[in-house]
Amino acid sequence: MQPPREISLADFLSILGLIRVNKAVKMVKIVNSTCIACGSGHAVAIFDGEKMPLSTLAFPKTQEQAMKLPKLPHDYVRCLECGHIYNRSFNYDDVPYSDTPYNMYNKGRDWVETLNQISEKVQTYLPENPCVVEIGHGDGSFLTGLSEAVGSGSFYGFDPHGAVVSKGNLVLSKGLFVSETLFSELKPDMLIIRHVAEHLENPLHFVQNLCVGAAMAGQYPTIYLEVPGGDNVVKTFRHGDFYYEHCSLFTSRSLEIMLKNVWGDTVELGSYMNEEVIYGVVKVNDEKRHLMNEAQEFSQIVQDIKVNVKSFLLERVRKGKTVVIWGERGKRRHS
Ligand SMILES: [Zn+2]
Repeated sequence: MQPPREISLADFLSILGLIRVNKAVKMVKIVNSTCIACGSGHAVAIFDGEKMPLSTLAFPKTQEQAMKLPKLPHDYVRCLECGHIYNRSFNYDDVPYSDTPYNMYNKGRDWVETLNQISEKVQTYLPENPCVVEIGHGDGSFLTGLSEAVGSGSFYGFDPHGAVVSKGNLVLSKGLFVSETLFSELKPDMLIIRHVAEHLENPLHFVQNLCVGAAMAGQYPTIYLEVPGGDNVVKTFRHGDFYYEHCSLFTSRSLEIMLKNVWGDTVELGSYMNEEVIYGVVKVNDEKRHLMNEAQEFSQIVQDIKVNVKSFLLERVRKGKTVVIWGERGKRRHS
């Protein structure tokens, strides 16, 4: 049964007697927590899933093993600036990716159709004979399909727990993408990051590090970043989407704001499957490099000033002259 359009889902469920809507104004407790998507400092509780075992990475073989699974906190809050939803008690070390493969079923009909659409979307950003890097390639099926569809160029996958393949123009490795060396070495035109950011303790820092790392290497690739969409989760009270392995639930707004805070321009935002999957495309640039240049110049010149003043004073003392120092600290603007 569908709710009539003119009333909210919450009111509809209330009419059916499935929930009780309390419209009295409640005191909202603001939580001091740094948002992992935008860095803002205040949030509000949205879902307390209490302590529960892992959902997709725990494969107990017996009832006893199941009963003994560690229970982990599901303490989700929502940022009051960007709307991002995240588990503020998440600890990446509690997720044993190295012990257990992150199994994904990628052969459902609609999902295969969506993957084809995503591949076509990515291809619109590729030059001829592209170099494409996927970070977190998993079973490698997406990058394999993309390499076959493009037909030329080179395709590299990096995933500490992913498939290993070396075939033609496709190389999938078990390992991390190391910005400091691999941007210079591979000169990628495109980075693909699909269904990775929602697993990370700090997705904003992850993308920022990639963009700065690329620019420092003189590379300005396009980044395609895709995550599960959280807008429908919030609208329809779909609390089954909260599980420990996904410490983030991106909304279209939080994804957009996160991508504004990196060295790059967002050139596209979009979604697939009725917003169940959302993505952003960023073109890396170094327009904020002046911040780094100013810092470097300040650091160098102040260091030179310190050295010069010290040697000047020592020289005066060595000559037996009296040195009187007068000054004040950081008050010049008030004098
Ligand atoms: Zn935020």
